[in-house]
Amino acid sequence: MPTETVDTIIIGGGLSGIYAAYLLSQRNKSFVLLEARERMGGRILSREHHGLFCDLGPSWYWPEVNPKMAHLIQALGLKGYRQFEEGMGRYQIPDGAVHTVRGYPMQPSCWRFSGGMTALITKLCEHIPENATQFDQPPMYQHPLYHPPAGKTSIWDGTIHFAGTETADQHGGYLEGALTAAERAVMNH
Ligand SMILES: Cc1cc2nc3c(=O)[nH]c(=O)nc-3n(C[C@H](O)[C@H](O)[C@H](O)COP(=O)(O)OP(=O)(O)OC[C@H]3O[C@@H](n4cnc5c(N)ncnc54)[C@H](O)[C@@H]3O)c2cc1C
Repeated sequence: MPTETVDTIIIGGGLSGIYAAYLLSQRNKSFVLLEARERMGGRILSREHHGLFCDLGPSWYWPEVNPKMAHLIQALGLKGYRQFEEGMGRYQIPDGAVHTVRGYPMQPSCWRFSGGMTALITKLCEHIPENATQFDQPPMYQHPLYHPPAGKTSIWDGTIHFAGTETADQHGGYLEGALTAAERAVMNH
């Protein structure tokens, strides 16, 4: 979808950008999502190993204190499971040494996704038109379409929304903050 013909440009395909795209799709609004990398998810990245998923970025959500996450998971029909608290855990530090620790109870309880946190990104992307996402985008200031008049960030009458952890952090941080940032941006649209 050419950027000249859309109402909104979303910069960044992390959770906040993808969730903004999901919300705009639900409202039948036109948008294009520009992502610098060759993949969606931003800080969310899960790797699969023999059927087990390992989260390299965010791993947990806390349903008791993350109402937006809890609601979205339910709306998308995703499955989570409570973080194991019993038994033993093992981690490796950068110098290679492996440590074993006893599990411990957490309050509020934290949960993980079956299929890794990437499952959330994959599911959200199913609701976004494929032609609305463009990968391998140059930094915005080098973008061929980015020629704002002096003192303005808009390149036309539409809206540019920058998505990113800084935005999420303005709304309490974490994945919940990314969802809040997207909701605010779309609400103000
Ligand atoms: C190691 C780690 C563990 C974490 N653990 C948890 C956890 O367990 N639970 C939790 O709730 N939170 C956790 N967090 C925080 C959570 O990951 C972030 O709050 C959330 O993912 C931020 O999402 P975002 O979309 O706002 O930003 P990002 O995920 O940073 O996405 C920004 C996207 O914008 C793209 N981009 C940037 N500039 C441009 C540009 N100029 N043009 C085009 N694209 C651009 C980037 O490539 C990226 O894809 C963790 C963070 C880290 C790093």
